[in-house]
Amino acid sequence: MLSKDSKIYVAGHRGLVGSAIWNNLKQRGYDNLIGRTHAELDLTDQLAVRRFFDEEHPDAVVLAAAFVGGIMANSLYRADFIMQNMLMQCNVIGEAYAHGVKRLLFLGSTCIYPKNAPQPMKEDVLLTSPLEYTNEEYAIAKIAGLKMCESYNLQYGTNYIAVMPTNLYGPNDNFHLENSHVMPAMMRKIYLAKLIHDENWEAIRVDMNKRPVESVTGTSPLEYTNEEYAIAKIAGLKMCESYNLQYGTNYIAVMPTNLYGPNDNFHLENSHVMPAMMRKIYLAKLIHDENWEAIRVDMNKRPVESVTGANSNEEILQVLAKYGISNNKVVLWGTGKPLREFLWSEDMADASVHVLLNVNFSDVIGIEKYSSVFYGTKADGAVDRNNSEGRGGAIPSLGEIRNCHINVGTGKELTIRELSQLVVKAVGFEGVVEFDASKPDGTPRKLIDVSKLHSLGWTHKVEIEEGVRRLFEWYQDSLS
Ligand code: NDP
Repeated sequence: MLSKDSKIYVAGHRGLVGSAIWNNLKQRGYDNLIGRTHAELDLTDQLAVRRFFDEEHPDAVVLAAAFVGGIMANSLYRADFIMQNMLMQCNVIGEAYAHGVKRLLFLGSTCIYPKNAPQPMKEDVLLTSPLEYTNEEYAIAKIAGLKMCESYNLQYGTNYIAVMPTNLYGPNDNFHLENSHVMPAMMRKIYLAKLIHDENWEAIRVDMNKRPVESVTGTSPLEYTNEEYAIAKIAGLKMCESYNLQYGTNYIAVMPTNLYGPNDNFHLENSHVMPAMMRKIYLAKLIHDENWEAIRVDMNKRPVESVTGANSNEEILQVLAKYGISNNKVVLWGTGKPLREFLWSEDMADASVHVLLNVNFSDVIGIEKYSSVFYGTKADGAVDRNNSEGRGGAIPSLGEIRNCHINVGTGKELTIRELSQLVVKAVGFEGVVEFDASKPDGTPRKLIDVSKLHSLGWTHKVEIEEGVRRLFEWYQDSLS
């Protein structure tokens, strides 16, 4: 637990939430607080954040700095919302962990919940159906943040807690007309309308001087085992989409299915299903054949838990048994029933280059001019929530532009059991493949629809039977 003299860093200590947290900590007798204004420390600058943690070594961190705003800002500055928030979170959470911070509080928001979530919304409705369109980028960054906390705790035993406040308001609120939340924006609008009616130009000028206006002075949840990875990837594709909308760029995101091919990873613990299965079946065959020379070559090339070809036969057999590999018998995880799709890696490369060379964002969405930059708005300004100059802009009247990424696959699936039969054939294995149903299966089915890719002029070339054969050839060549 924290003691009264623990050093607590409050990121965003001048903001609405951060300033209130700062004051509250003070009132409770926590005096060893540190804060940096945005001007003193830009949290999107990783080196600066690292330097700050090197110098200060806080015991605990409150992450109340964020790029925030209401519906208008969220609609227009989609790229800023996802990128600024992801950068700040990654930098602060990453450096906090690297500097041994065990306690961290991450401020999220209730906009992380689906648009049509049953009310009142329980924490469990997260990621069960689509988000509200206007603040999707912000919400995805926040979901990534809470998932970072959750997964750091699971992996590293930290104590990073994410809280999701409802709409907040209070001292130090942001009253900028474009970028603020509903309550202060509404209040300032009503106040200014009254001043105009009263012809109180002095008060209007005081107000405008203080806060210039425009420089006038997923339907269902993700699979649990790879949720963190998936959320990081969703954030990436959302970054591409929203940079295009705000800045008129041409950043295309492709989503390949399971890939396999030359230079695949055959490490028994960390590899994907196809190479792992292939190596297991191959080694089980070599054990049966008593081909110790080949086993040693294999183990020297890719040691298993530090056991190499130089170890004794017993040590080698012992470590392989841990991975379900024994004399003419292989045990694989799960029931063998899940359906999976696989794409030969060189086909993937071909699809990627095809998209890079031939596909524009406008081809994907069917709208030629999708950002205000095509109508003359500049996109060379700094990110400043109180100034819209040079920040480009998405065009809200175009409606909901989402899901602009492109699936890359074959559109064909087979069960893991069927895959194992193809591998057995390629390896020439005559033993038994068993499935251990007590181990998890992962998602039951994962077939992607590749009609968008087909319509953009690309289809796969290597079918799975041929690919498995080619992969085994590559694996054997890699041992020489
Ligand atoms: P504010 O905009 O009031 O405060 C955010 C603070 O972060 C500001 O002090 C801002 O400084 C700072 N900041 C922004 N960008 C950077 C940067 N790149 N480097 C350093 N500092 C930066 O926001 P709130 O206090 O309202 O929000 C804080 C947190 O609470 C957010 O995570 C938000 O999601 C969450 N929250 C807020 C709700 C609300 O209704 N307000 C509701 C639910 C959650 P500057 O102004 O100088 O840029």
